[in-house]
This record gives sequence, C-alpha cells and structure tokens, in this order.
Amino acid sequence: MLDTAPKNRPALPPEIARRRTFAIISHPDAGKTTLTEKFLLFGGAIQMAGQVRAKGEARRTRSDFMQMEKDRGISVSASAMSFDYKAWRFNLVDTPGHSDFSEDTYRTLTAVDAAIMVIDGAKGVESQTRKLFEVCRLRDLPILTFCNKMDREGRDTFEIIDEIQQNLAIDVTPASWPIGMGRDFVGCYDILHDRLELMDRADRNRVAESIKIAGLDDPKLAQHVPADLLAQLREELEMARELLPAFDRAAFLEGSMTPIWFGSAINSFGVKELMDGIAEYGPGPQVQPAEPRQVAPEEDRVAGFVFKVQANMDPKHRDRVAFVRLASGHFQRGMKLTHVRSKKPMAISNPVLFLASDRELAEEAWAGDIIGIPNHGQLRIGDALTEGEGLRFTGIPSFAPELLQTCRAGDPMKAKHLDKALMQFAEEGAAKVFKPMIGSGFVVGVVGALQFEVLASRIELEYGLPVRFESSQFTSARWVHGPKEAVEKFSQANKQHMAADNDGDPVYLTRLQWDIDRVARDYPDIRLSATKELM
Ligand code: GDP
Repeated sequence: MLDTAPKNRPALPPEIARRRTFAIISHPDAGKTTLTEKFLLFGGAIQMAGQVRAKGEARRTRSDFMQMEKDRGISVSASAMSFDYKAWRFNLVDTPGHSDFSEDTYRTLTAVDAAIMVIDGAKGVESQTRKLFEVCRLRDLPILTFCNKMDREGRDTFEIIDEIQQNLAIDVTPASWPIGMGRDFVGCYDILHDRLELMDRADRNRVAESIKIAGLDDPKLAQHVPADLLAQLREELEMARELLPAFDRAAFLEGSMTPIWFGSAINSFGVKELMDGIAEYGPGPQVQPAEPRQVAPEEDRVAGFVFKVQANMDPKHRDRVAFVRLASGHFQRGMKLTHVRSKKPMAISNPVLFLASDRELAEEAWAGDIIGIPNHGQLRIGDALTEGEGLRFTGIPSFAPELLQTCRAGDPMKAKHLDKALMQFAEEGAAKVFKPMIGSGFVVGVVGALQFEVLASRIELEYGLPVRFESSQFTSARWVHGPKEAVEKFSQANKQHMAADNDGDPVYLTRLQWDIDRVARDYPDIRLSATKELM
C-alpha cells in the first residue's frame, strides 16, 4: 500500500491509512447511480446490479420523491455506504442529487477526503458538475474524473479534456485513453500501468479483460485492436504526451490536477481502474479544521462531527440519525463521548455503520469512517463529539436562506403539529424556520425553490398534515447579535420585523436593504448577519 500521509505528517496507523472516504459528484443523468452500483458490486456489497437503481430513479420528480420517502430505508442506508475493496475500506458518502438540495450537498462534502467527478462523454462539463466542483475546490479536495458513456458516440478525447481544463481551471492528466468510440469503442489503454483493457459488451457485470502490454510497440496490441484504431491510439497518445501534463501525485492531492479515466459504468468498464486509482493514490483521512486546534486522524482520542441529520427514518418512531464523520481515533461501541455543545456525556451504545444495503451495529470505527448515531434530537448539524475536549469543527458551512415563504397548516386545528414538523426540518438543516413575534404561522427560508415543495410533501407524508406555502412579505432574514440588553431593546422597537429561529435566537426579517442599512446606522451595538454559525 502506498504511503498516503501528506508531507511532514506522521504515517497513519494501518487501519486508518486504508480508509478512503469520498463522494461522487455529477450532473443528473451522467451515471452516478450506475457507477455507485458498480462500486458496490466490485466491493462485494451487493450481489447484482439493479439494487441501487430504485433510489437513482426515485429522486427525479416530486411524486418520485415521495416514493423515495416511502423507501426511506434505501435512501438512508445509501447516504453513507461502507465496503471493502482489496486492502482498502471505502466509505462512499452520497450527495443528494437535486440541485435544490445544494445546502445538504455542500455539507456532505465536508465529510469526505476526495471526490469522483462523473461526466457524460457526450455532454462534457454541465452546470451542476461545475457548481459541485467549485465547492470541492473551496476545500482543495482531490478530484478523480470519470468520463462515462464511452459506449455511445461522444466527443473527441482532447476536446473533453480541454473543456475540463478550460471550464474548471484544473490540470487534467489522462490515466487511461479510450480506443474508438460509440459502437467502435473497444476499450482503453491504461497509461498508468501500460495495460490494455478490453470491454466485454456481452456481460455488463463482468470486469474487463486486462492485458499487460510492454509499451506501444508491443505486438500484442495488434492482436486485440483493429489496425486503424491502433494507429489512431498511437498518434493520440503521442500527442497527449506532448500536450498534457503527466500524473503528479502531489498536484492531485492538493487539488490542482485531476486524473481522468474513460469508461462505461453500465458496462462495468473502467470502474475497477477508477477504484484502483482512489485506492492507490488516495488520499487517506485528512486533518480536519477545528478550533482551537485542528484534529489529525492518527490522534488516540476520538473526535468527530455531525454533518447530516436525517429524521423520520422510521415514521412510527420519529427517531433520527446523526451522521458523524470520525476525525480522529479508534471508536468502540459503548464509548462515552462528550457532546460539546451541551457539555453533556453521551453513551454511544447503538451506533450504526452503513454497510451498503443493510444497517449494522458498528462495533468499532476509525478516523475517516462515517457512523450513524440514532438520537432524539440532541445531535445537530455541526455538533462535535469528543473525549472531553471542547473542540469546534469549523469546516461546515451555513447558508443564508435566499427564499422566504409563509407556511400555514391547511387545518388550523393542527397548527401545533406544524410547529413540531417545521422544527424537525430546521434541525435536519433542510430549512430555516422563523416564528414571527407578532401574528400566526411561520416564515420558512430555503436556498432553492423546490425545497418548499419537498417540505410540503414531507410534512403531509410524515405528519399527515396538509400545508400551504404562500409568498411572504419578507425577503431577507438576518440574525441579530449584540449585548443582551441592546438586542432586547432592538427587538421591542422592531416587533413587526422580529422572529425567533428554532433555537429561540432573534432574527430580523425585512424586504428592504434600506432597513438593513438603517439598523447599522441607528443601532451601533447591533450586528446583523446573513448566516448563523452552526455551532
Ligand atoms: P445519475 O442521474 O447520474 O445517477 O445517472 P444514472 O446512473 O441513473 O444514469 C442515467 C442514465 O444513463 C441511465 O439510463 C443509465 O442506464 C445510463 N447510463 C449510465 N451509464 C451508462 C453508460 O456507461 N453507457 C450508456 N450508454 N448509458 C449509461
């Protein structure tokens, strides 16, 4: 196994060094679900392709979303999947697919050490890919690229590489090179290992045949590749060597270079090479930003942070699961950890490890792993769990709600239930919920418009409560900070603008930038902020 410790850092204990925690980012339809499925197949986590499909198809439309809610078991276990591949333990963290779930997606990316970017060979870099890529870049995440659907007519290889370089401003180095395209696609030349990989079209779940090649003059090439394609391959590879940078692991690890593999997920082609890539080149678990000090994976003591909360996994129980990324140490079931925000001890007696399609009790876990902790609402996004130290993990972004709407219960008698439902979604991080000081109803803030629809269907489904979202007189929300007395005075003087968030913290709602400027001018003790620190 290659040493995956970054420069000037101690080597990681083997159990930690073998962990690979990553996400797959892509534009809808590029093939993320199919690729995930093949990962699970080759990781021995599922027996047959087709088992993850339900989820991939489910998230496309609103009605399908509701179906997904019914199949919640699937969608939840798919949030984080752990499986072994050769000597490695892969933790694949799912990023919600729809663009309107961006907040959730961004947070998910704080829990991983690397990302696989899947692009459709015919479509190239699409809008959602670009957005997600930018988030990865904010964190300098190493990115491996998979150019999918090579069994279809696509674009010229140089053109695709060029588009990625130009569009995303990152160096691209070919890890493999496609031979032919569409109906003529025969396979790839594995540049990193000098191998010929041949695609088997007859059996989609079979791994490609791999032939060791001694350079481009090896006569074995001609036995497997038609003459015209071979001539083209030689020419293109020569050009590639001249025009494109060679693989540089340090540049990859610092996020300035992405190796690209070409393949066809549905034909299981190129997938193993990609898996080998992430296994061999890493990275392993990284140091996590925190205050007052950062946290290194090899530390003895266990520390971790909640990056996602999912509620109502079982509608009968109203339980919720907090997804925790372990930042350091060796966790064992039954451990007592400190919940830093409340300073209370928490016995973690029934943690869950998400092994592909089943949830299993996690007897142990290591830095880099994702564990699920069932709880009744104590654990929130951004919370830290430690062996006593007052750490605060700082990498988790909070977003200003960009769209505000008023939410009312369809049946006024059930307003109390609406309160509960909305609080739950606020805790999940699915929406910001504000209770105005004056009047009834709630003001709900989200980042993407579709979230209102999703919330409405979830409230109806999980709480049996029809709701109405209506346009609000407000368009902006600002958290109010300052000395207690000043905040109190400010609230009293601006009652018609004031609300409380789900923690009871004061929020100023308005429609006019002018109002916000006025506050800054008239209340020097008060500071308004567009986001609330999560911790
Ligand atoms: P996602 O939206 O990114 O999760 O994409 P899916 O995995 O659901 O794939 C979208 C569509 O592309 C589905 O119809 C797949 O069957 C198809 N698809 C996935 N991989 C390939 C591939 O390698 N070749 C071809 N021709 N189609 C593919």
